[in-house]
Amino acid sequence: MLIINKKSDLVDILSQYGEKNNLSVGFVPTMGFLHSGHGSLIEKSKSENDITVCDIFVNPLQFNDRSDFEKYPRNTEKDTAYLESIGCDILYLPDYEDVYPLGHQPLQYDFGNLEKVMEGAFRPGHFQGVAEVVRILFDIVKPTKAYFGEKDFQQLRIIQELVKQLNIPVQIVPCPIVREADGLAMSSRNARLQAEDRKKASFIFEQLSWCAMNYINFSPEQIKIHVKNAFLEQSEFSLEYVEIAALHDLMPVDKWENCKGAGVYIAAFLGGVRLIDNIVLFRNFAK
Ligand code: AMP
Repeated sequence: MLIINKKSDLVDILSQYGEKNNLSVGFVPTMGFLHSGHGSLIEKSKSENDITVCDIFVNPLQFNDRSDFEKYPRNTEKDTAYLESIGCDILYLPDYEDVYPLGHQPLQYDFGNLEKVMEGAFRPGHFQGVAEVVRILFDIVKPTKAYFGEKDFQQLRIIQELVKQLNIPVQIVPCPIVREADGLAMSSRNARLQAEDRKKASFIFEQLSWCAMNYINFSPEQIKIHVKNAFLEQSEFSLEYVEIAALHDLMPVDKWENCKGAGVYIAAFLGGVRLIDNIVLFRNFAK
């Protein structure tokens, strides 16, 4: 695996080797502290492209909370070994200035409702930062396809919208959520959970599964009330939100009739660690 720190080197290699030979490039942007969730994106990219590029960059622009940025887990050595072991071709490992040169002025984006709800509402500026870094990385890597996890469903929708608005010639490939054996969605943040909290963390997925199995018998509002009450009984958790939203625009769903696809989205703190997860209830279904 090639490890590249400078965007100029990456651009040179990709144009001289990739473009000249008409090779397809799959791209997996990450913030590191890699796990099998990231691994699944790399594997998918490898199966669909000639070259797979992964990047690791903890993007300060997308953290509205400085201490969250500082506490974000990092282990470049372990990540590099993992990427080697799964056969990633190129790792782009930039520093701050390589991504944001001195005097850099971020673009302003308008994603409408997509950035006003859920993560957008609770993490002001988060998606502006995500969109800016992804736009810059796409401009450097110029991928044929880019891979994003449904774990961050709202982020995936924002990126699809970004690509559409700016006419970026890349295919966005959504990838299913990879979970631990007990159902907890894999996340770099899970490493920050205390052992006792880790044992309880699967409660989020239990609630999502309950919603998926029972939604048909209740209204969306009743489902949300059920989940809120269930969280109130778990003193270790502090529920930030539970939302039921349409898959295409993430507008709140207040009835199932005429809804063509909906998911449940949860953000909750457990021992000071913020966890998010979601489940698709149905697609293309109109009662
Ligand atoms: P992150 O390093 O958290 O920014 O994640 C990088 C990419 O990996 C994003 O597209 C995430 O949605 C995706 N990802 C993270 N965790 C998972 C998971 N458990 N399953 C599938 N994709 C994931």
